[in-house]
Amino acid sequence: MVFENKVAVVTGGAQGIGKAIAAAFEAEGATVYIIDIQEGNWFVGDVSDKETLERFANEVIDKSGHVDYLINNALPMMKGIDECSFEEFQYALSVGVTAPFYLTKLFKPYFSDGASIINIASSRDRMSQPQTESYTAAKGGIAALTHALAVSLAGKARVNSISPGWIDTTGSEFSGPDAFQQPAGCVGKPSDIASMVLFLCSDKAGFITGENICIDGGMTKQMIYHGDHGWTLQ
Ligand code: NAD
Repeated sequence: MVFENKVAVVTGGAQGIGKAIAAAFEAEGATVYIIDIQEGNWFVGDVSDKETLERFANEVIDKSGHVDYLINNALPMMKGIDECSFEEFQYALSVGVTAPFYLTKLFKPYFSDGASIINIASSRDRMSQPQTESYTAAKGGIAALTHALAVSLAGKARVNSISPGWIDTTGSEFSGPDAFQQPAGCVGKPSDIASMVLFLCSDKAGFITGENICIDGGMTKQMIYHGDHGWTLQ
């Protein structure tokens, strides 16, 4: 039990990648606190809201007294330049950037020795499909926030980000082009992200901070020109 007596906080832990991260910590003995906007057996609230974050942080500290690991995972909305309103864009940044910043600030006095923060970004922090501005800006923001915090929290907490590519959270089977478009030959699973989160939080990663790990089956490393490997521009 690598994480016995440790306290982990996971945002957006009700389903998908966050749920897998929470389960992986629990399986290694950690006490896990989840905040999610969905109803359930956790702290229910919207991470875009300042007072909600303050109430959540107070509850965690009242119950545990300290925090070892903060995993900023809640999903910001994706809307593009044509449809996204001013308010929706701000909301995406509140969920994806401001909440990770403010939760870190709230927990800062309570981080224990060896504390670690993992920000879940996306391979979209470095590349884009059309009409994805709110999400992509939030992911670029959290990726940059990571190295800023790593420097500010030097000696107090290590701060790293993970940029997933396509991670299937539905348990579906993918074959053919869906799978082999990734150089690794498959679509990713939530456990691919959860195991990296646990590694980065462990003592084995004690010399890693301010770093980004892209877990995308090699998708962002693939250079594509018209005509390559059957890829054609219509
Ligand atoms: P998901 O939709 O399955 O889960 C996201 C969770 O966040 C849900 O439980 C949801 O209720 C919660 N959430 C959303 N808005 C919230 C809010 N305002 N306040 C509190 N909770 C909120 O998504 P996922 O695929 O598991 O994604 C998890 C993280 O991984 C996200 O940050 C996402 O951007 C990132 N990511 C996922 C993929 C992928 O392919 N699945 C790829 C790249 C990055």
